[in-house]
Amino acid sequence: MKMNPSSPDPRARITGVIQRIYKARLTTTTGGNISVREENGDIWVTPSGIDKGSLEQKDIICVRKDGTIEGLHKPSSEFTFHKAIYESRPDIRAVIHAHPPALVSFSMVRNIPDTNIIPLARNVCGPIGYAKYAISGGAKLGEVIAAEFSKGFKAVIMENHGVVLGGEDLKDAYVRFETLEFAARTIFNARSIGNPVFLTNEEIDNMESQIPADLPETDQVEHPSDELAIRKSISDLVHRACDQGLMIGSSGTVSVRWRNDDFLITPRNIPRWEMSTEDVIQIRAGKREAGKLPSRALQVHARIYKENPHVNSIILAQPPHIMAFAVSNAELNVRAIPESWYFLRDVPKVDFGKQFDQAGTIASMFSPRNPALIIRNDSIIVTGDKLMQTFDRLEIAEFTARALIIGKTLGELVPMTQDQIDELIDKFD
Ligand SMILES: [Zn+2]
Repeated sequence: MKMNPSSPDPRARITGVIQRIYKARLTTTTGGNISVREENGDIWVTPSGIDKGSLEQKDIICVRKDGTIEGLHKPSSEFTFHKAIYESRPDIRAVIHAHPPALVSFSMVRNIPDTNIIPLARNVCGPIGYAKYAISGGAKLGEVIAAEFSKGFKAVIMENHGVVLGGEDLKDAYVRFETLEFAARTIFNARSIGNPVFLTNEEIDNMESQIPADLPETDQVEHPSDELAIRKSISDLVHRACDQGLMIGSSGTVSVRWRNDDFLITPRNIPRWEMSTEDVIQIRAGKREAGKLPSRALQVHARIYKENPHVNSIILAQPPHIMAFAVSNAELNVRAIPESWYFLRDVPKVDFGKQFDQAGTIASMFSPRNPALIIRNDSIIVTGDKLMQTFDRLEIAEFTARALIIGKTLGELVPMTQDQIDELIDKFD
């Protein structure tokens, strides 16, 4: 088959995403399907009933614009609703359907996750549609789903079934998928320990109006070996955080101090799992590397470095168990685990909306003994010396949060007493 070298093979894109979905445990081996529509109207789609763990490019089916089917297998039995979505929405060029656990749970209780739980989810997913149950593979299911997409939704919960998402390309659809499942998990985890508090559109818009303008650009960049080593450490760490479920494609900011107040930071709008060393951005003398857009949390990072000479690396992230504490009034009581408390100390919560207009207040809350804080309905910020130390603290915080959530269903939490804390300080500090 002749391939246009300027556009990567859609079959490669599809198998890449299906492997990512399967590895992230967002679908079962036969559940779920993906399609991509090309400019000429041809649709590439995953085959029916083939093991997602071993799907190869040759297994992907092409349904030509005239309806001719080419390939080694039958197209997915759910292809009818993919086709119906494309017919109702010319702007949608890729569709992902899957049965991820948290979103399936919402579909079973006939509920829609409210994406106003954190700004990221609202921005990436928008409001969510809801398609009533109809038998899988039938024309009726295509009709109800396409009707929801015609209302402008890009993500639709399928009653007692799963979820379907559209995007301007496959990457866009996958980032939306991951973010929506993450929002659903956050809501579910928060419900296990208390009541999630949702933001209003006004609160989100107010916060976003405070995001400072981008720094001026500079061509005065240089890449000595220590700078290149930092780039690699940031990119490696971001991939690891994605693999460990601590970050998703749409979120997470990592930075490392380079010289004085100069540092390197992750970019904006590049999915975290495909970020490369070249995407990392140098911030030098208050200016950004020309032609690149840094994470929007840049100014908070800059302020933390300026006011905390002991901090040499920062991670801002939204792991799903820590976020349960960020979006509810439940306390992340680190005192339940001496080892966690020793590394994290008490983790304070800052009100939502303060991340930009009071960046100075946030920066002043860190000290060598207080490395982490939570911004309500937004994120956790963890600081440290070496990047691996900061990452370890993030992992400890997420494991602690998870243990607290599980513990809540088992019995009454017994934190350490102040005497036991003092004993710990005497021995290790
Ligand atoms: Zn399905």
